[in-house]
Amino acid sequence: MTKYGIIVHGGAWDWPDEQDAFKTPYLEESARIGRDILAAGGSALDAVEKAVNYLEDAPTFEAGTGVPPNRNGVAQLDALIVDGRTRDFGSVAAVERVKYPITLARKVMEETAHCMFVGAGADELARELGMPLIPNIELVDEKSWRAFVERDERVLKPQWGKSQPLNAEHVSHQPLSHDTVGAVAIDQNGNVAAATSSSGSPFKPAGRVGDAPLLGSGGFALNGVGAVSCTGNGENIMRLLLAKYAADKMAEGMSAQQAADAAVSYMSSVYPNPMTGMIVVDAHGNLAYASSTPKIAVCYTAGDQIKTAFRA
Ligand code: ASP
Repeated sequence: MTKYGIIVHGGAWDWPDEQDAFKTPYLEESARIGRDILAAGGSALDAVEKAVNYLEDAPTFEAGTGVPPNRNGVAQLDALIVDGRTRDFGSVAAVERVKYPITLARKVMEETAHCMFVGAGADELARELGMPLIPNIELVDEKSWRAFVERDERVLKPQWGKSQPLNAEHVSHQPLSHDTVGAVAIDQNGNVAAATSSSGSPFKPAGRVGDAPLLGSGGFALNGVGAVSCTGNGENIMRLLLAKYAADKMAEGMSAQQAADAAVSYMSSVYPNPMTGMIVVDAHGNLAYASSTPKIAVCYTAGDQIKTAFRA
């Protein structure tokens, strides 16, 4: 029997330490949900989906409900789930009416002949597959909505992208944190899975899609190798296929921690101040996290315990 385990994240960025206490119970409950599934002999896939569903519902993270809108005032959500056992994945991008994008991503993987759906077609697919559609405004966080309505330029200015590389000053003036959520797990049969769910960068231009729904960027999983979920500046993550990079390092023999550290150093060697974090599980059940950001919110199983950390 493989040593089972799960690690979840609630984003990597910078936020005041006082916010840690607010995030902690949600992270712990999410890890507990995943741990209980694994302890009962459930699959890594179920564990990461249900752990992420819980975080999608939690008000403090930028996934599912309670998210900042884009620059047009619309919440657009992205999600990816990867099954390391089958090498299959499902993903959705820019969905606007679905409360649990990670579950829709799983349905794409398991109930369609395809891998990825976007926009109105993805919402329509959700309805066809029996998921309730909700008004977009129900996904939007109230505080962010107020900033949008008041056109608060401190909040609305673009944060990153090709033409505007991120810099430290930009980060320190950003009042909202970046709380994509994710989970990676290994079950008692040695199957690994990864899940990532995000509303992307706050007040992104309409139609902008980040790394979260992209295989090899926002997440990756392969049995015998491990699983990875990334967070942070999505443009940089997707340019470097960061989740696949970390998985390749594990395939070469690195442990979860070595692979996570190698991926973050690789990112830092290409981009100054890259604002990136990731969680990793290897095929031996070792859990790890790393980030180039001041903060990363993670929670993981350690024997019978659940541990939370906010710094790499
Ligand atoms: N990676 C996400 C994106 O760029 C944002 C985040 O993780 O904070 O869409």
